[in-house]
Amino acid sequence: MTVDVATLESNLSHIRERVQRAASRAARSPDEITIVAVSKTFPAEAIRVAHSLGLRHFGENRVQEFESKHAALAGLDATWHLIGHLQSNKARRAVQLFSAIDSVDSVALAQRLNAMLNESAAASPQRLPVLIEVRLAPEESKTGVLPEELPSVIEAALALPHLEVRGLMAIPPFFEEPERVRPFFQKLRKLRDELRERFGTRASSGFGELSMGMSHDFEVAIEEGATQIRVGTALFGTRAKP
Ligand SMILES: *Cc1c(COP(=O)(O)O)cnc(C)c1O
Repeated sequence: MTVDVATLESNLSHIRERVQRAASRAARSPDEITIVAVSKTFPAEAIRVAHSLGLRHFGENRVQEFESKHAALAGLDATWHLIGHLQSNKARRAVQLFSAIDSVDSVALAQRLNAMLNESAAASPQRLPVLIEVRLAPEESKTGVLPEELPSVIEAALALPHLEVRGLMAIPPFFEEPERVRPFFQKLRKLRDELRERFGTRASSGFGELSMGMSHDFEVAIEEGATQIRVGTALFGTRAKP
């Protein structure tokens, strides 16, 4: 697959305009919003092009897929986010490959990540930034922590010395009409606010991150307080169906 630089450049400038307009509607600065470029299914070359256009955060949803691109990305200064469900048996590889895990969805997984990092603590003494994934629509999604279980999961994660718990992430149900996602974004923000109130002083980062919003609904997410938006299709184009 060849990557068309001009197309990516024009897609990115369109995304930046959309971010700017949404931020200004909400009286926010666009600098508060990090674009995580979701590169799943696209080759390492696409990531290199996106990087050359100034993007520094990339999201992948599968450990194995990223593993296959990883060698071709050596030397790039970027933050690599895992945004998909992580099975415990891949935790070791995940902490070697990724610089942030945005989809922590159980105490067991948090503990497993911490244990893997503990083994290599001498090599990388820094804490691994993580977000807790929230299950906002239990009837429609299988991954994520139920809102009522968040306090106990966060409590447990804060006790782990190799993790830095930075905030919340969610994948709301899909609606054609972005306005219909707004209540889910509002709910996530409210949860973040309550949890920040309760745990913020104990989380070294302050527990402020809110990862929400994808290609078709990120404006609404920004209006509702997103600090990280995860953008795939609007940047790289339509993904090939498996
Ligand atoms: C694929 C994916 C995205 C990006 O979705 P687009 O609609 O292509 O922008 C965002 N978040 C997660 C968790 C994903 O798996």
